[in-house]
Amino acid sequence: MALRTVLQFPDKRLKTAAKPIESISDEIRQLAQDMCEVMYDEPGIGLAATQVGEPVRLVVVDTEWKDDEGAHEKNPLILVNPELSERDGKVVWSEGCLSVPDFEAEVERSARVVMRAIDLDGKPIEIRAEGLQAVCFQHEVDHLDGILFIDRISKLKRSRYVLKRKKQLKHEAEAGSSSSTG
Ligand SMILES: [Zn+2]
Repeated sequence: MALRTVLQFPDKRLKTAAKPIESISDEIRQLAQDMCEVMYDEPGIGLAATQVGEPVRLVVVDTEWKDDEGAHEKNPLILVNPELSERDGKVVWSEGCLSVPDFEAEVERSARVVMRAIDLDGKPIEIRAEGLQAVCFQHEVDHLDGILFIDRISKLKRSRYVLKRKKQLKHEAEAGSSSSTG
């Protein structure tokens, strides 16, 4: 089966606020599995359901795994209805995103957070996170609220990226139309 497509900026669906998951159905289990496959395939360290066009509060995260011939086992965290609390301190991290092609920028985040969610069996999860994992949790929960990391950088940097992205899309559209019309 083909992998789900990751939506890319400026797709409006990325601005959707996702709805809480009321029951963990087979569809939700399947979605979580599909999302893990996409995350490891790209590869990325996290993915929110919003990014595959499903506006529900589900994220998958794996900040340990690296694509280096199985030295690290795949051990995804699957977080249903994730919520962050006890934000503490500040950290600046260079972030990228599967939905924001060819761009990285420094973003200020809380240095430490507590993640609360449930797993696919409905059991509560509580994780005290710092460093990369804390940054990743905040980035993914932002997706569920329709926020991209480029919404958290300076207006100047953002508008530079938006311009670059527009040019890139125009270029792709022109290449596409010339090949299809012959
Ligand atoms: Zn992202």
